[in-house]
Amino acid sequence: MVTNTITVLEYTCEKCRYKWISRVNGKDRSKPTRCAKCKRWDWDKKAEKAKYMDLPTEVVQNFAEDFIRKNKGIFDALAD
Ligand SMILES: [Zn+2]
Repeated sequence: MVTNTITVLEYTCEKCRYKWISRVNGKDRSKPTRCAKCKRWDWDKKAEKAKYMDLPTEVVQNFAEDFIRKNKGIFDALAD
């Protein structure tokens, strides 16, 4: 018996995070045009807000704290 380790391409939809492999009759197909689950054409385009989600928590937190400090008046008014 001969065993081989094979590598397959796994695609992840940037919209619904669905993961799938694109193979037909045991052969790899070219890059899918649509997500296998949500059927979106732009499945490989990262959503705009995802860029900010990739930032380290510390950076986001510092930005938020700085924003709150600079706009303290607004938050104080909302608290009333
Ligand atoms: Zn999808």
